[in-house]
Amino acid sequence: MDLRPPAVRTLLTQLERLPGIGPRSARQLVEHLLTVAPDEVAATASALAALRESVRHCATCFMLTDDEQCAVCSDPGRERGVVLVVEEPTAVWAVEGTGEYHGLYHALLGHLSPLHGVGPGDLTIEQLLRRVHDQGVQEVVLATNPTVEGETTALYIARRLQPVGVEVTRLASGIPVGGEVASVDQVTLAQALQLRRKV
Ligand code: ZN
Repeated sequence: MDLRPPAVRTLLTQLERLPGIGPRSARQLVEHLLTVAPDEVAATASALAALRESVRHCATCFMLTDDEQCAVCSDPGRERGVVLVVEEPTAVWAVEGTGEYHGLYHALLGHLSPLHGVGPGDLTIEQLLRRVHDQGVQEVVLATNPTVEGETTALYIARRLQPVGVEVTRLASGIPVGGEVASVDQVTLAQALQLRRKV
């Protein structure tokens, strides 16, 4: 017979749906949550609920924000002639943490992957092209991940930007191939940003 109380069974099912969590880690999380103070568990639960209630994508750059426009887009002090393009909005946290970058951002919300049926229309590429065209952007820094999909996406965007006549650069080496922009240490990332090259 199934000895798991219904509340445990439900939580296990929900946790196992999350990326990177298998049956074993789900069980360990449940065991852990049963040992911590109830108000700590409640705080976690309300943080989870608040995530989808208050967080959305910036209408301009698709970064995460709790407002119509993100803090970067609405900051008059940012260099408006440079746009740094990342796959996921979370990658800009690492870039911003270097303190080396003062321009604007654009999150594609993924990468091109013909194998998984992800085409240009599934990303925010058209919105990026429109921004570059309408807002007089002078440089686009392609900071997609150094993976096959990231490189493919960068090349596609570079090709689409060619007729616009904007300068297109790519982050320099230093980011391990197959790695992610979000998980690179800040010194390496700052260097990659300084040494970015033309595409
Ligand atoms: Zn924004």
